Amino acid sequence: MEKGLFVTISGPSGVGKGTVIAILRERLPQAVFLVSCTTREPRPGEVDGEVYNFISEEEFKRWIDEGKFLEWALVHHGAYYGTLKEPVLKALDAGKVIIREVDLQGDRLIKQTIPRDQLVSIFIKPENISQLIARINHRGEMSEEELARRLESARVELAAAGEFDYRVTNSDGQSLKCFMEVSDIIRSRASAKGLAF
Ligand code: 5GP
Repeated sequence: MEKGLFVTISGPSGVGKGTVIAILRERLPQAVFLVSCTTREPRPGEVDGEVYNFISEEEFKRWIDEGKFLEWALVHHGAYYGTLKEPVLKALDAGKVIIREVDLQGDRLIKQTIPRDQLVSIFIKPENISQLIARINHRGEMSEEELARRLESARVELAAAGEFDYRVTNSDGQSLKCFMEVSDIIRSRASAKGLAF
C-alpha cells in the first residue's frame, strides 16, 4: 500500500494558523489531526486530548528518554511540545493524510526523519510584519515576557519561510481563502500519490 502523507503547518505566532487549522478540521474530516503533547497550561476552553495532551514536564522528559517522540522542541523558550512517533508511523502505514501544526524546529526534525515523498511542509505567513505585531499584541492572556518571546520567535520563523515547500498568505479576514489554498495543496499532493482523499 502507498504510504500516507504528513502535512506540517507552521508559521509565526499570531498569523492565524489556529483558525485555518480549525477550518481544515471541520472541512477535511478524512484527514488525521494528530494530538501533540505539551507541558504548557491549558488555555480557557482547551480540552485535554483534543489538540494537545497536557502532560507534566517530568513525564515529557521521561518520554524523551524512552524515545517516544518523533520530534520535540522547547518552544518560545518556555514549554515543551512534541509529536508522538507511534501514531504518525501507524497513520502513514495506513496511507492516511496527517495534518499537524509544528514549530520551525519541529519541522526541521521531521524533515530529517520522515521520507520526503511522505511529507509536505506549509508555511502560513502574514501579509506584512506590522499585521503580525498588532495581532500578537492583542493577545491579552500573555505576560509581557511571553509576548516578547513570541515576537522574537516570529522574527526567526519568518526568516526561515524559504525552507518550506509552500508559503500561503493569511491576510486579515481572509482565513477562508487561506484555508482553500492550503486544502488545494493537500488535495493535489495526496492525489499525486494516488491516496484516497
Ligand atoms: P500554542 O501554545 O500557541 O498552541 O503553540 C505554540 C507553538 O508550539 C506554535 O508555534 C506551534 O506551532 C508549536 N507546536 C504545537 N505543537 C507542536 C508539536 O507537536 N511540535 C512542535 N515542535 N511544535 C509544536
